[in-house]
Amino acid sequence: AIILGIESSCDDTSASICIDGVISSNVIANQLVHQNFGGVVPELASRVHQQNIVPAIHEAISKAKIHKNEIDAVAFTRGPGLLGSLLVGTSFAKAFALANSIPLIEVNHMQAHILAHFIDAKPAFPFICLTVSGGHTQIVLVKDYFDMEIIGQTNDDAAGEAFDKTAKILGLPYPGGPLIDKYAKEGNPRAYKFPEPQIPGLDFSFSGLKTSIMYFVRDQVKADPDFLEKNMNDICASVQDRIVSILLNKLKKAAAQYNIKRIAIAGGVSANSGLRNGLNQTAKDLGWEVFIPQFQYCTDNAGMIAIAGYYKYLKQDFIGQDVAPMARMPF
Ligand code: ATP
Ligand code: FE
Repeated sequence: AIILGIESSCDDTSASICIDGVISSNVIANQLVHQNFGGVVPELASRVHQQNIVPAIHEAISKAKIHKNEIDAVAFTRGPGLLGSLLVGTSFAKAFALANSIPLIEVNHMQAHILAHFIDAKPAFPFICLTVSGGHTQIVLVKDYFDMEIIGQTNDDAAGEAFDKTAKILGLPYPGGPLIDKYAKEGNPRAYKFPEPQIPGLDFSFSGLKTSIMYFVRDQVKADPDFLEKNMNDICASVQDRIVSILLNKLKKAAAQYNIKRIAIAGGVSANSGLRNGLNQTAKDLGWEVFIPQFQYCTDNAGMIAIAGYYKYLKQDFIGQDVAPMARMPF
């Protein structure tokens, strides 16, 4: 079957073609306009999606070397995300399905981040997935394609937010995660020590870390106005090291508690080199089998929506034309 996947939950407009479970194209149009505002502006995001969606879909179809009449179903992100952004993808998907008389498939964006693993590696069930993105930090027990249980999550900021807010404190542009990663590569992770929050169970908290970084920077800059410029690499390496250790410690706890050694990471922060290296090291130490997505399937992309759509298509799990997007959407 040929599935068209559409993703528009935040600031990336993306379209993908999946042919019999294989991703043939994955086109991502980034919205650089938000850099001027230090974060995603929802109104603006929605309008740019409207400009990008038709070209992105044309490109995905042409790169996959198919004709649009060959598409068997259209899968779209129903939520969670920004309502105005979701509305663009949802409306387009509904119109496309209606015009071509093909079924419509709703996809949960957070499930899709996890199902991105079925684009190539295909982990056996059950496995544990740490989903770390701009809006979420979850430890998920994945029992089947669409049978997932959240066993841990953040009480406040997401891991991606911790990176982005730290970057803002350090005067770096949005989104700061990739930049912190870049500077961290040249720095000493033991240069500065930031506290590890003591949160019970498998839950997380990142707001205290953010506050301690804020006060640390304030005090250091007071003593030496050039502190940031001189020590950017070491600060980034130390912050990243702490965020990664918080994530890995909870992941170890989850693996032990559920006695599962198949461990995956997903979401934008799974692109982080510190997390990828740390996970590989932990896997060696503890005998885990780990699954790390290709970079293009870590941050928002329609490939993950198309693959999730493909598995729903196999179950003939379709949705009617009266479907509406959901800003908050449980599994
Ligand atoms: P959600 O999936 O929760 O709705 P989102 O879709 O906005 O949120 P993603 O696109 O999955 O999030 O991920 C974006 C986040 O990933 C941003 O916070 C960004 O800073 C972070 N990120 C991307 N690359 C890296 C990296 N190399 N290191 C650290 N963080 C990164
Ligand atoms: Fe996402």
